[in-house]
Amino acid sequence: MTTRPHPDPEPLPLRIAPATAEAWPGYLNRTARAYRCEPAHLVAPISSRWASRLRRPHLAACTAGIAMTDDVAAATARRLNLRVEEVQAMQLSVHHGLTVSLDEETTRAFDPVSGSATTTDLRSLGWIADPRRRRWCPRCDPDVDRIAWAYPWAVLCLAHHTLLHPHDADRNGDVSASRWGRLHHTQARLESILAGTRGFSRLSPRDGFVELLAAAEVLASRRQDILLEASTVYEPWVMADVLPAAFTAVETPMDRWPEELDVLVEGKHRGAYLAAVLQKHGSSSPFGLRADLTRFAGEPGHFIRPWAKDIYLPTAHRPITASWSRERARRLLPRSMPEHLTVPTLTDFTPWMSDAHCQVAAAQIAHMLTTGACLKDACDDLGWSQPHQVPLRRLWWHLESTGRFGEYLHAVGQAVHLLLDQPMSSPAPTAEHPPSDGDGSPRPRPAAPRSA
Ligand SMILES: [Zn+2]
Repeated sequence: MTTRPHPDPEPLPLRIAPATAEAWPGYLNRTARAYRCEPAHLVAPISSRWASRLRRPHLAACTAGIAMTDDVAAATARRLNLRVEEVQAMQLSVHHGLTVSLDEETTRAFDPVSGSATTTDLRSLGWIADPRRRRWCPRCDPDVDRIAWAYPWAVLCLAHHTLLHPHDADRNGDVSASRWGRLHHTQARLESILAGTRGFSRLSPRDGFVELLAAAEVLASRRQDILLEASTVYEPWVMADVLPAAFTAVETPMDRWPEELDVLVEGKHRGAYLAAVLQKHGSSSPFGLRADLTRFAGEPGHFIRPWAKDIYLPTAHRPITASWSRERARRLLPRSMPEHLTVPTLTDFTPWMSDAHCQVAAAQIAHMLTTGACLKDACDDLGWSQPHQVPLRRLWWHLESTGRFGEYLHAVGQAVHLLLDQPMSSPAPTAEHPPSDGDGSPRPRPAAPRSA
């Protein structure tokens, strides 16, 4: 069965306009109802593989409405009399970088024609709710599902203050009127993070949400509720009961939280327990909450699991990764940052670390900053074995907890420019002319000098 879409499928006779922020699976169902057919019939002329996946809910859930490759979006647009942008705007990929991280490979995996995504891949996206569960507001147009309602934290229609359907009336019976305001407030906070108008002070929105869900799970365990599953996260009782406390937990340094952690982990390593919870929610933030909890548990900061391959600088903090810098960096960056570039600027961030450790940590960060590599690759390239990651890990925890991560990376970035510009005076990229990666895609701007 071919995994290419038919390039020129017969257009349907009618155009059914998408609603604002409508979700793709809902749109497809709505259009199918208008034609009194099943959704698979609509897409069969584009791809018989797609049609057959749609008839199998388990497979459809993994490839419907998350991402689409450009050629499939073009064929779909032609078939349904839509613009390509309209088709893409109904995919969850519209929230790329904010709530999901989709590179080209992941996009292909979730493509409804060529994708082979499984529920494991779906889980790897993190905290996206099961797309098989349609959810709607009984007071909005009941035919329209919105993309935002696919997320596990959406339990209300904020326009109508109405619980989204379906929800489990038995589980939610005790969400009393007095807690209603809190429920509304909680979701409004979550949505404002999603909209980018409010964020966790020390984390990207995505990492913030990952940690929030992990914290919610830990708190729910403490209250001897059942362990949270994706399907319970979007129950209103979770929102009203657990999420406000989880918010507090994530946003406050947690030296004293949670007190019953030792009981909870039942003799397992506390860091391992929390790592498992975070990873279950698709953690891409190696530190943050995990660091705080590990520190609380009396760990001296030496808890190392082979996460180094998962430790990347967040995209927002990778201002000088570009083809020019990658190649030069691999050739020119020293194994340990020179002392004159480290003391006192970089050591100011870490008064409790030795200068030698600061130099090693800075070299590792510099490598990650310029090449986009993970910590493991950086250490391999620089020839540092695992114990030499400890200074950087401790430094990272410290910077995230104190909200100085960006400031530190900026300082390392300045040092990198000095190092890379010395042997050959290649112009450093400026904010006006950000370096391109050769593929035409925009790159994050280099760190601008801090304005006075
Ligand atoms: Zn509504």
